[in-house]
Amino acid sequence: MQIEKQIYEIIAKSNVILLTSHERVDGDGVGAELALCMMLRRMGKTVRAINDGEFPLIYRFLPAAGDATVCPAAWRDDFDLCIAVDSADLERLGKVAKKIPPALRIINIDHHYSNSMFGSVNWVSEDYSSTGEMIYRFMRANGVEITPDIAACLYTAIITDTGRFCFSNTFASTHVAVADLIKCGAQPAELSRHLYRAERIEVVRLENLCMATLQTAADGLIAMMHITDDMHHATGTTYLDTQDFVDIPKAIAGVEVGVLFRQIDHDGKTRVSLRSEGGVNADKIAAEFGGGGHRRAAGCTYDGGIEEARQALLAVIVRHLKEAGLYAK
Ligand code: 5GP
Ligand code: MN
Repeated sequence: MQIEKQIYEIIAKSNVILLTSHERVDGDGVGAELALCMMLRRMGKTVRAINDGEFPLIYRFLPAAGDATVCPAAWRDDFDLCIAVDSADLERLGKVAKKIPPALRIINIDHHYSNSMFGSVNWVSEDYSSTGEMIYRFMRANGVEITPDIAACLYTAIITDTGRFCFSNTFASTHVAVADLIKCGAQPAELSRHLYRAERIEVVRLENLCMATLQTAADGLIAMMHITDDMHHATGTTYLDTQDFVDIPKAIAGVEVGVLFRQIDHDGKTRVSLRSEGGVNADKIAAEFGGGGHRRAAGCTYDGGIEEARQALLAVIVRHLKEAGLYAK
């Protein structure tokens, strides 16, 4: 049976459903999750959308965003199904992973090729731009009505994960799906205003501080920036405001690898975001530090401060550039 139909049958037989996505959830994770949440409510299911960490401010305008909770709030002991979206492995679910009982059935829906197939049922394919697009296909395959609210969430998932339809995961089929979502009531101008023309002044100030940290290496093939806790305090911003900042170093002409280092909370760790032009595999670089992702976009958590992380990452990125024949020195 077609996987979309198989998943629908399992959902139809379930009653109390946990929806979740990766920690520090992004537009694809929240869009896919909220679209499913609305669909399941319409089917009469009891649904809880629970993530590790705060729901990002920028996505709070989305329909049903108010239903998303931070683990362990809203947890139930009678969940009979878990649907995890956009997460490459179980650990990426963060605190939620620790609370999921071993016996709970998990449906794993994701578009990362490195997915560890941690679900009882796994629908993993790189042929889709985003998890949001997979949920769109799922709904179409099962005759689920795509309401304007559902369409808005799926549109948001797709536009954010494709970098406004610019990244290499933007296929003709992606545009066809998006055209259909617009027909279903997604409003591109309105959604783009929320997503791209509603920047808080605090975030622009942070961007300014972050820009000043720009460093290049390997003859300009690598560009790096960082954000410290102090910069957040000075501007009144948080980690969740900086999801797209890595695009800034990556946008410089001639840059093969853009890197953003972010100090995370109190435990002396650094989040590393990597963006590659495609000449080196960002996922393989991140994997050397226990992370993962895609060829052109990946991330990891470095156990140490920003400077230490920078030295460690730099050495590995330079090695990858040399192995790819892009850098000779
Ligand atoms: P970002 O840099 O935006 O946080 O992440 C870029 C991509 O890499 C996303 O597709 C994300 O799922 C993946 N990614 C980021 N951090 C990690 C990580 O620590 N582990 C794994 N497996 N994937 C990650
Ligand atoms: Mn995604």
